[in-house]
Order: sequence, then structure tokens, then C-alpha cells
Amino acid sequence: MSAYQPVIGLEIHAVLETRTKMFCACPVVGSAHQPPNAAVCPVCAGLPGTLPVANRMAVEYALRVALALECQVARTSLFARKSYFYPDLPKGYQISQYDQPLAQDGRIAIHTSQGEQVVRIRRVHLEEDTGKLTHLDEDGAAATLVDLNRAGVPLLEIVSEPDLHSPEAVRAYAVAIHSLLRYLGVNSGDLEKGLFRIEPNISLRPEGRAEFGTRVEVKNLNSFRSLERAVAYEIQRQAARLDSGQPVVQQTLGWDDARGITLPQRSKEDAEDYRYFPEPDLPPLVISEEWLEAVRAGLPELPHARAARFRRQYGLSAYDAGVLTAEKAAADYYEALAAAAPAKAAANWLTGEVFAWLNGHGASIQEFPLPPAALAELVHLAEAGEITPNTARAVLAEMLATGQGAAEIVAAKDLRLVADPARIAAWAEQALAEHPEQVAAYQGGKSGLKQFFFGQAMRLSGGRAQPRALEDELARRLDKIED
Ligand SMILES: [Zn+2]
Repeated sequence: MSAYQPVIGLEIHAVLETRTKMFCACPVVGSAHQPPNAAVCPVCAGLPGTLPVANRMAVEYALRVALALECQVARTSLFARKSYFYPDLPKGYQISQYDQPLAQDGRIAIHTSQGEQVVRIRRVHLEEDTGKLTHLDEDGAAATLVDLNRAGVPLLEIVSEPDLHSPEAVRAYAVAIHSLLRYLGVNSGDLEKGLFRIEPNISLRPEGRAEFGTRVEVKNLNSFRSLERAVAYEIQRQAARLDSGQPVVQQTLGWDDARGITLPQRSKEDAEDYRYFPEPDLPPLVISEEWLEAVRAGLPELPHARAARFRRQYGLSAYDAGVLTAEKAAADYYEALAAAAPAKAAANWLTGEVFAWLNGHGASIQEFPLPPAALAELVHLAEAGEITPNTARAVLAEMLATGQGAAEIVAAKDLRLVADPARIAAWAEQALAEHPEQVAAYQGGKSGLKQFFFGQAMRLSGGRAQPRALEDELARRLDKIED
């Protein structure tokens, strides 16, 4: 295969989970279940004679994102009408922003196996979502159901520059934006329910050439894994076409997750002239200096800064700090745990046992049954060497199953390690006494048998001997034999 450089940019649409819709007072249903058309009024149903009013909170959410992405925020931006003839938006146009968007020229740092990379943000703008159509075909009679609950819900569009060059980087960027929006409290990040939609555009160019190749857009990506697979597939598909002298066709493709391929999508937006023009029913969106500064002052500590602080404050590796700060709730859990237990051990327990449990249960950290204080109790017992690592893991399982505390379980099952010199000496003595041949072999120079005696004595203790104490006792006795 020839050497091509993939050139990839992303459009991300995130629902701003405000209380009400972008231009009317209807509630934003979000991921909650609601009967169809429960949240509709004359404005979002597009009835003639109604007037939109911009939702101040949606603008504020958008400003949070724009500032967190270090964008230039326009003091005056404009809403525009984008022609859109489709029954999921009955007005016949979508209110969006076009040549004067809310914010431009931002940046975000991402981390891949290649190191840190800064991805430029081209623009961030506000628009409204469309409704949902359900196509039926019952007994050969086709019908389409229209649900306008989602019509008019505030959407934020974040457009990157084509700065990404690998499936890994694309995923890292999407995850970084996803994490940022959750830190900012503007979006719950549900890809499955379409609250966070990722659309990469992908082209290839021969290595070293400046101009871009023909690009395709990929839709229907419901997980980060699908995103990464779809981008990898497209790179391969386009390279194969170019290698065989066929052109790449500019089009919108849909990802078929089951088959692992992209397919041409009959897109409602294909080959349309959007005919943007300024929205006459909405005044220019003016952002005052005071408002902007108030939003800036209210920004929380963001993932990148928090990861840097975790490294400083808790002595964590860059990797652990990155993993623990990717989700705000996990970072919060970690800080509560590290306040009550040794920081490094807390990180190991969280990224190891706890994350494995969450993965296995398809659960989020908010759903983890143990509060940080309960886990801290276990971390302390393990760190102090009072129980073995294996026992600690078993105790965790017991805590999760029964809700009992770590110390309670250790006491009830008598799991604490024994360091009492008399009992340690007794196990060591018995292990040596039971294996005279091995002791003789040891005396003959087979020093590797130390490990064997340790295993025997540990078995006699039922795994409860304090390992260091047992090792020392055996060494003392074997050295005596050598003399
Ligand atoms: Zn409405």
C-alpha cells in the first residue's frame, strides 16, 4: 500500500441540556422517557405567527464551552436560517449560525501514544435540533411517525480543523471534548441516545503533499469504538481505491457497526442548497464583557489542569492522572479516596479493581456501591500488610456482595495476617521438619529450595503468615543449618 497521510476533522453536535428549548419554553426531555410530542408548543411546532426567543442559559452553556476551548468569543454573533425541508422540523428551516458564529479559533490538547497534540477548533456555534421520525411499514402500508420533543432543543456544534491523522487521535479528540462537556455540566454525554454526535470527515493525500484529497463524511457512530473502527476502515478503503487508480467520491457514508463497513447513506442533507440568510425574527446575539467574565470566573477546574494537579499533589504518573481525570465523577471519587488513604495505593485500587468491576458491570462510577470511605478502609488494611493482596481482592468482592465493611469482614473471617514470632517459628520449623531430604539437598548447595520451604510454610499457615516475617525466620533457620 502506498504512503498516504489521513487528514481528518470532526464535527461534534452536543445537546445542551438546559431546562428549556433553544427558542421556546418547552422542556428539554434529554435522555428521560417522555411520550411522543409531550414537549411541543406553537413555536417549536413552527406554527405561523410565532416568534422565537433565544434561551439565555443555552447561550451561557455555549460560552462555557467556547471559553474552555480557548476560543475567541464574538461580542456580536448572528442567527441564520438554513433551508431544511423535512418533516422533522416543520418550520421548513433550521435556526443556526453561519458566517458570524458565537466563537472561533480555539484549541484543545489531546494525548495519544505519540504524545501530546494540540487540535485547533475552527468554530463553536449554536443551533436547534430536529425532531425524530419513525418509519413504519405495517402490512405493506408505509407510514412515518413524527415526534417533535427534540425539535428546537439547543445544540452546540463544535468544528475542529483537519488536524487529526489517525483513528487513535480521532478517538482521543472526541473523548477529550466529551469529557470537557461533562466537566462543564452542559451535556450528559450519551452517545447511544444521540445527545453527543460525532461526524468525522476523512480524506487521504500522498505523504508530503500539501493539498487535501476528496473527503467523505461518516455518520451513525454510536460509540467511541465505532468511531475509531469507522475511521480505520475509511482510511483503508480510500487507500485501496487510490492505489487502484479509482477516485474517492465525495459523499456522506453511514457506519454499519455489525458488518464493520461504511455504506453510502441516503442523506436528507445531500446535494441541497442550504440558502442561509439572516434570521429576521431574532436580534443579533450580543455578549457583554461582564457576562463573558462572569462565565469565565465560574468555569470549574478542567480535565487538563486537574490531571496536572493530580501529578503534583498525589505524585501520580501522567497515565494514571489522565485516566483518573477523564471523567469528573471518577476524579471526584479519587480525591475523596486519596483524602482517606495513601494516594498512590488509592490510584491503583481505583484504576485496577474498581474500574474492572465497573467495566464488568457496564456501570459508571456513580453506580459503584461503595463510598470512598468504605474503600479507604480496605486500602489501609492492604497497605499496612495486615492482609495479603489476594485476600484484599476477596474482601472487596465480599464488601460488594454483602455491603459489610472491610475490617468487619477481616475480623469475622479471621483473615488478618499473623506476624506473631512464636507462630511464625512453629510453621517454619514444621516445614523444615517435614522435608528432611530437601533440607539435605539445600545443605548440598541447592539454594533455590528456599522458595520451596517458603511455599510449604505458607501452606501450613493457611496463607496467613506475614510473608516478610516468615521469609526472615526461614532464612535464619536455614543459615543455621548451613553453619
Ligand atoms: Zn416549544
